[in-house]
Amino acid sequence: MPKTEEEKGFVDVVNGRYKPKGKFHISEANQPIFNKDTGKLAGVTNPRDMTYIHSYGGEAVFFESLGKGKLMATRCDNDNCETKGSIYQPFRIFCPDCLRRATVIDMTEIAQKTAKIHSFIVTHRSGAFNSLPKPIKFINIEFEGVVTILMSVLAVGDPAIGKRIVPIFNTKAPTYTITDLRFVPEGTLESELPEGFTF
Ligand SMILES: [Zn+2]
Repeated sequence: MPKTEEEKGFVDVVNGRYKPKGKFHISEANQPIFNKDTGKLAGVTNPRDMTYIHSYGGEAVFFESLGKGKLMATRCDNDNCETKGSIYQPFRIFCPDCLRRATVIDMTEIAQKTAKIHSFIVTHRSGAFNSLPKPIKFINIEFEGVVTILMSVLAVGDPAIGKRIVPIFNTKAPTYTITDLRFVPEGTLESELPEGFTF
């Protein structure tokens, strides 16, 4: 059952500190588990309802930008690093080679012009808490000039290796999670995009 506003947990940052308000743990009575063949007790259920506080830290700019229709990446700009100039997508706060803080860059245009499906998996049965329409077309994506591969979801059509795709963003009601970013084949019409998504 969806929670009422009174049953939800909310957090703000005020003066550099987390200020939680509302409910973060909801108690619910457990239920016995009986063996229907013997009538004997076999165990109990253990209902748990917890709201986690997940801090994004240095990755916050990545998630905030998705809701504005922008795909941010990072690049190592350290002159003393052997892999200087490497662009990382998924977003890495620190360069894995020199461990210096990487520079945040906007790679929306690179994604629009060069994204291609590297490989894919179609999943008909998902795990718990899945919010994506099934079957889920998971895709691994390569971009020109980017040294890593990004995993995402193809929202329209069928995946194929080498297919040119473009990013779409949940800009109308962002959730500030990775599901705000999806991909569609190049040439897809705006009217075919999932609810809330724009190019
Ligand atoms: Zn580096």
